[in-house]
Amino acid sequence: MPTKILAVAAHPGDAFFTMGATVAQHIHNGGAGAFLSLSLGERGHRTIAPKEYGEMQRAAAEKAAKHLGAEALFLTYPDAEIPANDEANFAVCDVIRRQKPDVIVTHWSGSWHKDHQNTFLIVRDAIFYAGLDAMPRKLPAHNVGKLFFADNWEDATNYQPDTVLDITPVYDKWVEACAMFPMWRGETGLIRYNDYYQSLAVMRGCLSRFRYAVALMSDPSQRTTRTKSLE
Ligand SMILES: [Zn+2]
Repeated sequence: MPTKILAVAAHPGDAFFTMGATVAQHIHNGGAGAFLSLSLGERGHRTIAPKEYGEMQRAAAEKAAKHLGAEALFLTYPDAEIPANDEANFAVCDVIRRQKPDVIVTHWSGSWHKDHQNTFLIVRDAIFYAGLDAMPRKLPAHNVGKLFFADNWEDATNYQPDTVLDITPVYDKWVEACAMFPMWRGETGLIRYNDYYQSLAVMRGCLSRFRYAVALMSDPSQRTTRTKSLE
């Protein structure tokens, strides 16, 4: 069985711009991957109405996921109103039990965006519920082996990456997938995501002596090395 990675993001843009290359590289290395967006990010355009923009976002996410050989999944909480509650925790828990990921990548908590903060909390609780045998759901318990937090300019407070992943083999494909979103090209009037995240991949690559790379922050609980000898 190939190992599976699940990216859980508040908005499709976060999923693909900040987690997409990681998922693509995992697939390139022989694994499987899926993207779960908790909202469609439908309120992210100044002139296109949320209903229409949400459908554009969904279509772009499906196309981008397919381009990377991954699956696109959605929970349609309203953009800007993703709730940090048990209903959401169990919804993500059920996705985890169905998808059975070995690795999850999601938002770091140090974000100014409440949807991102809440996604961090939801994923933390969902992983706990998913692995709890004594928590009866439709599907049996599943333990997620590793949790990583993505390098996102909106989640930068106290973000301390400790892992660098070479994404050189999938860089072009990842850029093509991101370019399926109008937001990537700066059309939503926000920052130039394309320049920022492509430059970030170059910068992380320079520091790690790869051509292109992404930095990830591991969950503090998985940083302990168990050893019987220091040699
Ligand atoms: Zn976002």
